[in-house]
Amino acid sequence: MVIPSPTSAPAQRVPVVIIGAGPAGLTVANILRAASVDCVLLETESREFIEQRPRAGFIEEWAVRALRQRGLADRLVERAQPHSECEFRIDGERHRFPYAALTGDRHFTYPQPLLVTDLVREYADVRGGDIRFGVRDVALQGIDGDRPAVLYTDPETGERRRIDCRIIAGCDGARGVTRTYVTPDRGTVSRYDYGVGWLALLAEAPPSSDCVVFGIHPRGFGAHMSRSPEVTRYYLEVPPGDDAENWSHDRVWSELHARLTVAGAPPLTEGRLIEKRVLDMHSYVVEPMTYGRLFLAGDSAHLVAPIAAKGMNLALHDALLLADALVAYCGTGDDSGLRGYSAACLRRVWEYQEFSQWLSELIHGPSSGDPFRTGSAQARLRRILDSPSAAAAFAESYIGKEAVR
Ligand code: FAD
Repeated sequence: MVIPSPTSAPAQRVPVVIIGAGPAGLTVANILRAASVDCVLLETESREFIEQRPRAGFIEEWAVRALRQRGLADRLVERAQPHSECEFRIDGERHRFPYAALTGDRHFTYPQPLLVTDLVREYADVRGGDIRFGVRDVALQGIDGDRPAVLYTDPETGERRRIDCRIIAGCDGARGVTRTYVTPDRGTVSRYDYGVGWLALLAEAPPSSDCVVFGIHPRGFGAHMSRSPEVTRYYLEVPPGDDAENWSHDRVWSELHARLTVAGAPPLTEGRLIEKRVLDMHSYVVEPMTYGRLFLAGDSAHLVAPIAAKGMNLALHDALLLADALVAYCGTGDDSGLRGYSAACLRRVWEYQEFSQWLSELIHGPSSGDPFRTGSAQARLRRILDSPSAAAAFAESYIGKEAVR
């Protein structure tokens, strides 16, 4: 273990330090900057790295509206593709589900690296915000008092730096450090393991459908999601802990064809696989999402398995609420937003976790080998296809309700 050198430079002081430049941290930083609240954003990776890291792609329309109102979605709105239907494929048949017609809201397909690129550019290049890349050994001090501080090692000089602040926004994702400060005596972490793995794939191939396709199959779940005119995301259910190296190009495509091909659907267009990794499907929730002067947002507070494409949407929801609360607190001293922050976020977090769990059973039941789970999953699907009220409830959860204005 490397022992950081002692703090040598004099401490800096800003109202807010944000840790992590993902969608959550960048959104908070941009909103603070626009409101003239000083902040420093610390990120362990380089700018090039975060602008290329592939992950999410589906953004709910309420989130697009909220980002747009804050001047953060110009390029997104210009370039993203709206989606209004999804399709279930089961027993050789296709079932389209028109959720936008039921709710009035759509998804926008916009790869996460593009959103991150836009948010970094807006914060650093347009709004002149302070962002420090490549920092090491981030540590927090005094979060239960009035004078918290963040320490980190400067990547260029190796010096230990200290920033004194009033609030710390912990936006450093699932592998970050801030969540570890919510120790068992300060909060709880609830976990859920789905017991399945997903092979997450990105293919250099145009989408083979105009919408998200859920392939429900006894061999295992398979999914198709467009990312751009040239790139498509696919998922294959695999045993948890499986090694991506077990999945050759030919095996991947043969399995995708087996799970997603139905009569009347356009054939899958194959392409080079540019990402291939196994995700063990699990979720967690930290409660409360705050301790003292530390406020967690996004994946640092809650991981939601990407079954229903909810993680980045939740991260944006937290970030919008936290940023508005911070602007009020730093501007007028009104701390009501900060006091209500955790409860307001957790309501949506649990709704999205519950929906992901519900959808998981629908898509994974038929490959479980358990006839009871198969029968229940089929009943679930029939209900949303046959009952208008069940369809409306599903559509509302799938697209996410209006939240932050
Ligand atoms: P992150 O994006 O993880 O950002 C955290 C940042 O903090 C990173 O840049 C990291 O480098 C940095 N960091 C980490 N540790 C430190 C530290 N100690 N100090 C400083 N910085 C640190 N969600 C959806 O809504 N829709 C989808 O379609 C979707 N698809 C997905 C597909 C896949 C394959 C995966 C893996 C996820 C998907 N998600 C989706 C989830 C989504 O990607 C995450 O929920 C989202 O990235 C969370 O944003 P965040 O800002 O909270 O965290």
